[in-house]
Amino acid sequence: MMSEKVELLGRYANIPSELTIKALPTSSELDYVGAENFEQTMLEKILPKSIEEKINLNELYEIDFQWLCRCLRFINYGPYHTVNSIFCDKCGPVRQEVRVDLRTVAVKPLPADFSNDIVLKKEELLDYKKDIHLKLLTIKDAMNLKEDRLFFDESGKTKTELARICYMIRSVGQKNEPITPVQAKMIVENELSPADYMIVKELVGKLTDYGLRAGGRCTCPKCHSTTAAFIALVDDRFFRPTVGDLRDGRDDRHQWPAENLPGSETTTV
Ligand SMILES: [Zn+2]
Repeated sequence: MMSEKVELLGRYANIPSELTIKALPTSSELDYVGAENFEQTMLEKILPKSIEEKINLNELYEIDFQWLCRCLRFINYGPYHTVNSIFCDKCGPVRQEVRVDLRTVAVKPLPADFSNDIVLKKEELLDYKKDIHLKLLTIKDAMNLKEDRLFFDESGKTKTELARICYMIRSVGQKNEPITPVQAKMIVENELSPADYMIVKELVGKLTDYGLRAGGRCTCPKCHSTTAAFIALVDDRFFRPTVGDLRDGRDDRHQWPAENLPGSETTTV
């Protein structure tokens, strides 16, 4: 059974920096992943069988979880995916089926000296007078916040942006006085001015922007430009392959997925 070493984007106290991912005996297992609760299915059923090392998957950063899911997709189904439209720099939007290579989607690794304390300096804010300390979400955080009623709107839908920010806030002012998402929500809603909230949203996006990018490079079927782009939202998850994708993937197995590992040269869209 095929297996690959995958280097994680983050560094952990209790998880090795490199994991061994093996192909599952039958890809029928992976039919689950189209299911409603993708993350839970992956964490509880698929990844424990695919990762050789015994680790607590809940501790993984969300970006590493997404990265592992992508690597598992490569190992089980190859790197090809069929999209319905692409964007060409010469022709504009091209609406037709195009087979794209998911390895062209870049991965932004964490800096080598990354410590999970990202500081949003008070000098960046207009009114608020304290530094805001942030942490990257673990996959468990990302799952929990979706179930957190505190962040539901009237119709019971999660206010995702607010919830993610509040779960990321580790503390304000003092680094060593951690606060809960409930406390963070009170601060965001009662102490941040609307202008500062806008700034916080933008800076949180910038300061925590790591992991898989949301698109890759492809060849335009009309003009054959090789700098066309396709969208591959991380939320699209497993990129269900067509039979053609699988055949192409089988033909160049030997080429992946090492070239897409963190630190290697990849094209950013
Ligand atoms: Zn074109």
